[in-house]
Amino acid sequence: MLVFKFGGASVRDSYGVKNLLNIVNRFSDDLIIVVSAFGKITNALEEVLKLSLKETEECNSKFEALKTYHINIINDLFPDKRNLIYKEIEDEFSKLNTILFNEKYDSYDLKYDQVVSFGEIFSTKIVSAFLNTAQLSNKWIDIRKVFVTDETFREAKIDMRLTLNKAEDSFSFKNDKVYLTQGFIGGSKNGLVTTLGREGSDYTAAVLANLLNAEKVIVWKDVDGILNADPRYFNEAEKLDKISYQEAVELAYFGAKVIHPKTLKPLHNKNIPLCVRSFINPEGEGTEVDCFKQYDQDLPIYTLKKDQMLISLFPKDLSFVMEDELSKIFKYLSEHRIRVNLIQNSAISFSLCIDNANAKAKQLVERFKEDYKVLYNDQLELLTIRHYSDDAIKKVTKGRKIYIEQRSRHTSHFVIR
Ligand code: ADP
Ligand code: ASP
Ligand code: MG
Repeated sequence: MLVFKFGGASVRDSYGVKNLLNIVNRFSDDLIIVVSAFGKITNALEEVLKLSLKETEECNSKFEALKTYHINIINDLFPDKRNLIYKEIEDEFSKLNTILFNEKYDSYDLKYDQVVSFGEIFSTKIVSAFLNTAQLSNKWIDIRKVFVTDETFREAKIDMRLTLNKAEDSFSFKNDKVYLTQGFIGGSKNGLVTTLGREGSDYTAAVLANLLNAEKVIVWKDVDGILNADPRYFNEAEKLDKISYQEAVELAYFGAKVIHPKTLKPLHNKNIPLCVRSFINPEGEGTEVDCFKQYDQDLPIYTLKKDQMLISLFPKDLSFVMEDELSKIFKYLSEHRIRVNLIQNSAISFSLCIDNANAKAKQLVERFKEDYKVLYNDQLELLTIRHYSDDAIKKVTKGRKIYIEQRSRHTSHFVIR
C-alpha cells in the first residue's frame, strides 16, 4: 500500500485536480491519497477569520471570494450540474458561515481550528467526487474522526495509540482500493476539530503510513525533488537523488520548506521510504529519503530561515548566566511554544535566534527586560550550510553582515543581514 500526498500547489485549480487523476491512474497499488486545501486557501481562511473578529464588511466579500474560487473549480470539473457535489459544498459553506459569524468561542486558537480546517474539507470532497466521476472509485474518509488529538489548538498532538484502531478500521482495504482524506486536521476526544500546525499535510501522510505500515510515501511537489537549496532564493540548485532520514531532518528543521520537519520521524521509525516527486514531471524519479547514509555526499546544501530575531541577554549585575537562569529562560520558551533555532552563550551573556513570525517574539523581549539587559535585532536570516566548504560559505555570505557564526563538523550556521 502506498500513501500519496498532494499539497496546495498541486491542486490550485481544476487543471491541477485533473493532473492528480492522471498521476494516480499511473499506479495500480492500494492507495491512500492525502490532500491539502486548494492553492493558498488556508491563508485565505486565516484572513477571513481575522476579519470576522473585526466584523468588517470586507469579511463578507472575502468569504464570497473563497466560495467563488471553489465554485469555479467545481463548474470546470462537473459539467453535470446535478452532481451532488454542488449541494455538498454549499452545505459546508453554510456550516463555515455559522461558525464564523454566529458562534462564540472561548479562544482564538479554538476558533482558528474550527474555521481553517474547512480548506481541507472543501478540497477533499471535490477531489474525491471528481475521481469517482472519472471511474477512479475511492472512499472519502473524514480524518477528524480518525486522528485523535489533544486540544493544543493550532498544533495538536496525535494520540497514536487511540488513533491506531480507528485508522485500521477506516482504512481497512476490505472493500476499497483507494481512500482519499484530508491532511493537516484531526479531532479531539470532545469532538472539536484540531489542526496539526501549518504545512502539516506531509506529516498526516507520514503518520498514516506509520500506523498502516505503508510500503512508501510519495509527496507530489512543484519541484523535481529535494534540491540542495531552495530554488526561490538560490540559483543553480541541484536535485539530491537519495538522502538519509537524518540529512532530511536537518534540512527540514533548518528551513527547507519542501518537507515538514515532523514528517521524518514516523517514517524513520518504521523504515518507510519517503519520495519527493514532481507533479509537473511525474516521470521524474525525484528524491528518495531512506537509510541511505552512504549517499549523503559532500555537495553543500543550503537552507535559509527568514524573519529571524536574535536576542542577547546580559545579567544586570554582571553575574554569570548559570544553570538556574538558563532553566528559567527555557521554561518560558517552552510554555510559550517559541522555537529556538540557535543559541550561543558566554560567561555573562546568552543569545538566542528565534522565529519572529508573530507577536510572541516582542512579548518575549518585554518579559526578558524584567530580569536582564536585552539587546535584539530583527529581520535577520539564519543560513545553514550542510557539508560546507570555504568556497560555499564565501559564495553565500558575500556582502552580508554576519552576527553569529557557528560551525560543527558537517554543518555551519550564520545569522546574517
Ligand atoms: P506543498 O504544495 O506540498 O505544500 P510546499 O510549497 O510546501 O509544497 O513545498 C515545495 C516548495 O518548497 C518548493 O516550491 C520550493 O520553493 C520550496 N523549497 C524550499 N527548499 C527546498 C529544497 N531544498 N528543495 C526543493 N524545494 C524547496
Ligand atoms: N493547508 C495547510 C497549510 O496550508 C496544510 C498543508 O498544506 O500542508 O498549512
Ligand atoms: Mg506545504
